[in-house]
Amino acid sequence: MDKKEKTIRIEGKDVVLHPEHPVRFACMEHADTQIDEYVDEFEAAPDTYRAASIEDDKLDKRCRECGAPADFALLREKGM
Ligand SMILES: [Zn+2]
Repeated sequence: MDKKEKTIRIEGKDVVLHPEHPVRFACMEHADTQIDEYVDEFEAAPDTYRAASIEDDKLDKRCRECGAPADFALLREKGM
């Protein structure tokens, strides 16, 4: 397997991510502003998932803006 390939487990499925695009989290309230920020920073609309569906204990699932437990995960899936 390519070591540069970044994957994340979402609902039992390994999803390949764009290596240069991070996974970020947002609460309900800040989802819209975080999506806008993501678009501004990376010039690409993120794919959104429910934070609870992300199966990775190492990730800090708190809102990037206020630190509350996140409802959404923002990330960029690599197309096939
Ligand atoms: Zn927030």
